[in-house]
Amino acid sequence: MKRIFRYSVFLFLLSFFCALWIPKLRYLSESSRLDPATLKSAGFRQQPVDKETEQVIRNMEDPGEYLAVYWLETKFGERSSALSPDNILTMRKRWERADGWGEYLSACQSVWDDLTYFPVASRDIGSDVSYEDSWMFGRSYKGEREHEGTDIMSRKNERGVLPVVSMTDGVVQNKGWLELGGYRVGIRAPHGAYFYYAHLDSYADIYVGDEIKAGDLLGFMGDTGYGTEEGTKGKFPVHLHLGIYIYSEDQEISVNPYPALKYVEEKIIDYQDAG
Ligand SMILES: [Zn+2]
Repeated sequence: MKRIFRYSVFLFLLSFFCALWIPKLRYLSESSRLDPATLKSAGFRQQPVDKETEQVIRNMEDPGEYLAVYWLETKFGERSSALSPDNILTMRKRWERADGWGEYLSACQSVWDDLTYFPVASRDIGSDVSYEDSWMFGRSYKGEREHEGTDIMSRKNERGVLPVVSMTDGVVQNKGWLELGGYRVGIRAPHGAYFYYAHLDSYADIYVGDEIKAGDLLGFMGDTGYGTEEGTKGKFPVHLHLGIYIYSEDQEISVNPYPALKYVEEKIIDYQDAG
């Protein structure tokens, strides 16, 4: 009888401590999903957005905060679940105490909250261009590399025809020839991300330091690059390579632009209106 009593007390105490500690341990293990190194993780850089979430964010003007919480809650897409936008503020509370939350949130907002237009002004996306998620696919010019961007292909493979416009407001930070990128333009958007448009056939009337608006013409789609000589063209099919970069601890980090492109896929500026 005494023994049974002792066991019961033991079990009672055990379950009591479990009830107390399991949520705490769970919080500790989950909050380790967010630390200052999160921005360099493969999960974050892939920017995974499932179909359901794609619909949820479609009508949000600033989806950065929503996605910041969504990625932490779903372990960067490992668990799929679209979150109710009404619950975001409550869920955010779980994460905002974690080390690195502020920088993480700013990074998400910098990639997402300046997005305004699809970068190719075309009347018909389906027939003029096509693109797929080729994040980290192999590329082999100048040794084996991984693809850090999205290629928007000209279906007709015509250089100098399709207008490339800025997806965001911003400042022209770079313009000129790169061996890999050909004629490229780099735009620094207001929240701090760097949008990189490569392989242009020609430039619009823009210069380094110019302030530009989302939808302004940057140039025309081409096939320049992959040559040490400036002006090399024709080494691959006509396309726009789009890259998006954030900065953390003075390090440049590329993130997958494909989900961002999906988000603005229906926001196409009429070429006549492009600046
Ligand atoms: Zn590319």
